[in-house]
Amino acid sequence: MPSSPDLYSPLAAWFANHRRALPWREEGTSAWGVLVSEIMSQQTPVARVAEPWRTWMKRWPTPQALARADSAEVLRAWGSLGYPRRALRLHECARTVEREHGGELPVGVEALVALPGIGDYTAAAVASFAQGQRACVLDTNIRRVLTRVLDAKAAPSAHVTKRDRARFEKLLPVEVEHSRIWNEGVMELGALVCRARNPMCEACPLSEHCAWLQAGRPGLGERTTRPQSYEGSDRQIRGRILKTLREGGAATVGTLENASGADSERFVRLLTDLLAEGLISRTASGEITLGAGTHKEEHVHAR
Ligand code: SF4
Repeated sequence: MPSSPDLYSPLAAWFANHRRALPWREEGTSAWGVLVSEIMSQQTPVARVAEPWRTWMKRWPTPQALARADSAEVLRAWGSLGYPRRALRLHECARTVEREHGGELPVGVEALVALPGIGDYTAAAVASFAQGQRACVLDTNIRRVLTRVLDAKAAPSAHVTKRDRARFEKLLPVEVEHSRIWNEGVMELGALVCRARNPMCEACPLSEHCAWLQAGRPGLGERTTRPQSYEGSDRQIRGRILKTLREGGAATVGTLENASGADSERFVRLLTDLLAEGLISRTASGEITLGAGTHKEEHVHAR
């Protein structure tokens, strides 16, 4: 196994020259801003997140500001970032921070992971990138790079194992600032160079130490999971329903069914799910609107 300094020096030099200028990396971004960026980037490409993040942070720069918004506003502002349950979780997180922590994001992985909607990865990323903490950040990009370098395998296992965590933690530099650069740098390398399908090993600062490259890149291009098509998926239909409500305000069930393009049975199932998840609710007049209402679970009859 290569030592931490062997990997750190070339990686840090590469990162200093290739680091993307993302808005949440600007001087003065709060830990809350970094947390919002992490939640937005979880299932949405970073390039699509930059502008919505700026708009969001201008409107709700602190947890208190977001805590006071209503859920319909929050969902509308989430716009087309996709997977809108993330918006509701962020909203709930802001309310917890205001209620239980006086509006200040608590410091450290243990305290962050106790907040609603914050998992191990997000907690470690916020602690490392914004709170001056030494934390081992493990996202898909980092795990792919380290699995290739250490194990000569094309792709990491589906879940982080204890063994992996222990080995990856050993590589984390002891000095706090270096540990941040390491985390951000390996993540950036995974996004820009050590990509899943077409890694650019000739441009990689770790090529000299990479076991997978030395083994001839076995398994490159093999699919471990079947790609999911968005076209015709439940996600697409849910997206159409939410877009109609975002753009036009409250709507009747019939209007939404027409906009969804789905058959009745499927539409009813998806609308019922959206109600149960608190992404939409019924108004007193029976129309459907964005945001959580009082009816957390109910069945819907089309038209
Ligand atoms: S040499 Fe290639 S496979 Fe190895 S870490 Fe670099 S980009 Fe990834």
